[in-house]
Amino acid sequence: MQIDVFTLFPEWFEWFSDQRHMKNLAAAGTTLDVVDMRATTPIANNRVDDTPYGGGAGMVIRVDVVEAALRARYGADPAELRQRRRVVVLSPVGRRLDDGLAEELAREPELTLLCGRYEGFDQRVHDHFASDVISVGDYVLSGGELAAMVVIDAVTRKLPEAHGDERSALEESFSKELDGAPEYPHYTRPAEHRGWPVPEVLFSGNHAEIERWRREQSELRRVTRDLPS
Ligand code: SAH
Repeated sequence: MQIDVFTLFPEWFEWFSDQRHMKNLAAAGTTLDVVDMRATTPIANNRVDDTPYGGGAGMVIRVDVVEAALRARYGADPAELRQRRRVVVLSPVGRRLDDGLAEELAREPELTLLCGRYEGFDQRVHDHFASDVISVGDYVLSGGELAAMVVIDAVTRKLPEAHGDERSALEESFSKELDGAPEYPHYTRPAEHRGWPVPEVLFSGNHAEIERWRREQSELRRVTRDLPS
């Protein structure tokens, strides 16, 4: 998978790209390229934003700045680009990221992520360049960089090359394998800690019974969400 992320703060991705998770993916052919939108701005003095029409606080990232960055990268009209690759605008107003959407994006050979800053992008970026507008939750971050990292992490986890043991990625919270429910609890050594027990069934060696117990626990968590009782 080829991932391009467009940002005004490319240095945010230096640490991220350097982590083992991303390095393993790179070794398996998944690339993450970071594109600095300021580098191609057509506006004097390297500006990328302007005051909002209609007034109000904050600055808005200009549509012509995003157009120039996309054109420079893909050599194509950005208004047509979205017909052949997913171009995602990160924005709190977008479709909420969930496991299904992560699966969907993981099937794409190429992915473009546009990170906003300040008040966000001129609406025409959403309307004419984006195939998707994606939110990582109903709260507001200062920039799209962390949101893009969340999307990249959730999506690349779905790629087979991200895992030594592929099963661990299959039976995860919200996956089809668990019918969309949160995952069941895990336990490991010690068998006893401060008198807090491990459920007996896990020592039974009865795989069918263990599986049944795990499914039950998983279903229960749809309701409890593992909140302290
Ligand atoms: N004025 C906007 C918020 C802008 S926050 C509003 O009220 O909706 C600046 C940038 O951070 C956005 O352009 C977006 O790229 C990113 N961002 C903030 N919160 C986000 C979220 N929940 N999901 C995805 N991106 C987010």
